[in-house]
Amino acid sequence: MPDRTIYLDHAATTALDARVLDAMLPYFTAEYGNASSIYTLGRHAMQAIDSAREQVAEILNCRLTEITFTGCGSESDNLAIKGMAYASQKKGNHLITSSIEHHAVLHTCQYLERFGFKTTYLPVDTYGCVNPDDVGRAITDSTILVSVMYANNEVGTIEPIAEIGRICRARKIPFHIDAVQAGGSLPLDVTSLNADLLSLSAHKFYGPKGIGILYTRQGMRLLPQLQGGSQERGRRAGTENVAGIVGAATALQLAYEELPQVMPRIIALRDRLITGLLSIPGSQLTGHPTNRLPNNASFCFEGVEGESILLNLDLLGIAASTGSACTSGSVDPSHVLIAMGIPVELAHGSLRLTLGKANTDADVDTVLTAVPGIVEKLRGLRG
Ligand code: PLP
Repeated sequence: MPDRTIYLDHAATTALDARVLDAMLPYFTAEYGNASSIYTLGRHAMQAIDSAREQVAEILNCRLTEITFTGCGSESDNLAIKGMAYASQKKGNHLITSSIEHHAVLHTCQYLERFGFKTTYLPVDTYGCVNPDDVGRAITDSTILVSVMYANNEVGTIEPIAEIGRICRARKIPFHIDAVQAGGSLPLDVTSLNADLLSLSAHKFYGPKGIGILYTRQGMRLLPQLQGGSQERGRRAGTENVAGIVGAATALQLAYEELPQVMPRIIALRDRLITGLLSIPGSQLTGHPTNRLPNNASFCFEGVEGESILLNLDLLGIAASTGSACTSGSVDPSHVLIAMGIPVELAHGSLRLTLGKANTDADVDTVLTAVPGIVEKLRGLRG
């Protein structure tokens, strides 16, 4: 076992940046006040939240009052979708989303269907791209929300969200963007994106786990999904996670400050992975060839199981991911790959490598040496 994990699963989560930890530490110890308390210690906590909110609002180019801190990306998605749906029941009951969303969106829509809401799941092309015209065609008099992700977590395809947002705005339909995978690597200016709601999660950009962000354009009415105190302007009850909020804002700011240095390097590593692994016979890239997340290299290999590749990579100290999910004893192919028209058999052989700022050329060399042998060995075992 090598002495260091070659971590290539940054779409799952990232390591906390040491500078983010430093910014958070005082709020676990000396500055432990409850932000709702009016004495000095409490006011310090509230000041920390206020300045974190300013940092986030600056990057999103929005008002302070439009930022809500939540408990994770899933909560932001839930609050955006359920909050809008329940608040708009008098207007209609129709939601539009895509068939390749994260389960935080898909399962939320499915949950709402139990309470009388109806969802249109838009198809995607072979690259995993939503056609904005399909959004326009799906809108009816009872549509109350469109939710499309910024970039897909499995295959990295970047969706035409600004265009979808333009169509929604013209038809006066609120538009939610699940930007959890885009946060920290793609522009988040909510005005250029034509977003009305936008979800982020700090652990995807070297911030702490357990903190999400939801942007809600002024004037949008959301029904809160947690009842209790009046924190976060009544949108999200519960004593604020001050350290987490400070960490999320610090991480987001660092990510965008360092983007010009970090991204070209990551793109070069990604492209080496793609070119190298596509030389394996019976391999194909999944997702868009160019319009994809800077850190995402994802593939399907004929005649192998993605989970077997992962276990073999793990033995070499390499952490990666597959789209297939093991549920109740059987392996289900990814709903994303199936929606893209990839045959079930091929979808079982998916491998997702997602790079981060600590990865090196040597890491890529190790993967390029390891994967062809693993694929060949696994195919041999199948006979
Ligand atoms: N949306 C997308 C696109 C994601 O990739 C994820 C997590 O992987 C989530 C939502 C959920 O975020 P969290 O893990 O913070 O709940």
